[in-house]
Amino acid sequence: MVDSAAPPPFASDLRDHVRAHAENRPGVYRLLGPEGQVLYVGKSIRVRSRLLSYFRADRSEKAAEIVAFARQVEWDHLPSEFSALLREFRLIRRLRPPFNVQHKKERAVCFLRIPKEPAPRILVTTMPVEDGSEYFGPVLGAERARAAVRALVDVLGLRTCPASTPLRLADQGDLFGSAPIALCARAELRRCIAPCAAGCTERGYARRLDVARRFLRGETDELRERLRERLRQASERWIYEYAAVVKERIELLTGLREALVRMVRSLDALTALYHVKGHDGEDRLYLLRRGLVQSELPAPRDAHERAGVRSRAERVLAGPPPPVGRVGPDAIAEMLLVERWFRRNPGERAALRPL
Ligand code: SF4
Repeated sequence: MVDSAAPPPFASDLRDHVRAHAENRPGVYRLLGPEGQVLYVGKSIRVRSRLLSYFRADRSEKAAEIVAFARQVEWDHLPSEFSALLREFRLIRRLRPPFNVQHKKERAVCFLRIPKEPAPRILVTTMPVEDGSEYFGPVLGAERARAAVRALVDVLGLRTCPASTPLRLADQGDLFGSAPIALCARAELRRCIAPCAAGCTERGYARRLDVARRFLRGETDELRERLRERLRQASERWIYEYAAVVKERIELLTGLREALVRMVRSLDALTALYHVKGHDGEDRLYLLRRGLVQSELPAPRDAHERAGVRSRAERVLAGPPPPVGRVGPDAIAEMLLVERWFRRNPGERAALRPL
């Protein structure tokens, strides 16, 4: 519903227009330029007050700059802050207004990816694809995740070379003649068990990869215990440089694992019906699946409508969740937005009903 009427051309007219028509209730607003292009999208739980504040802004403030360019103002009144948050997010992602920074900037969200390949690597990707890879995440901070994954693969001796690297596993059966030589220095540095040079069997490599998987899921602490022991020994022998390296690895691995476990727990709790109280009784139900908004419905008023909601929820949940590679960056960003909403408003969890 667009509540704004024809656009007045000047700031004072825009302000009068807002005063005359906008209400103090949740909603999303848009300031438009001379060609009708959307300059800025915002949300507020009190649209009228928020919009009027633009016309009182100091000249040095961004709000005054937006108003100087604006020729129209539009707004949609919405039932709640949550619905305004979603609408604002979706509009910014679609329109990419020049004065918006939030939601437009790609946050450094990434996933850990284990591709389907011989002696699989652990990679960090910001663009999951649907190719049968196994994913862990999402996690914020791609650079830090990369550093942590480097530490993880170094500790476990997993390979980091390109997929095209020829591998010669010890149980491959075609190893004759002289012992093969590893194709990079990581083997010599004892950071890789060298599946390129018969340094391990397929099963031996898989066992190490499995330790990584279990570590990332929070199921084992074997890795950090191993590192703590190395740290203790290095400190006892006064090998402080090495001790510092080990300490940094422990910190990186701890950070990565905590971020992953926290995110997974948080998203797992967000498969639910979220009942949001709306302005003037306009309550809404959001059907969430791991934080993804699958549908938005008016809250049911009687048993018949409740049964309808339930069967819709059952239909949505009938199949397995879509693989990460099919979800897409906008949906992943929205999922993180919803997760952050509940983190910042923990009281809202009481309005979640398990499906
Ligand atoms: S030692 Fe061999 S398998 Fe390991 S990273 Fe280097 S090239 Fe790859």
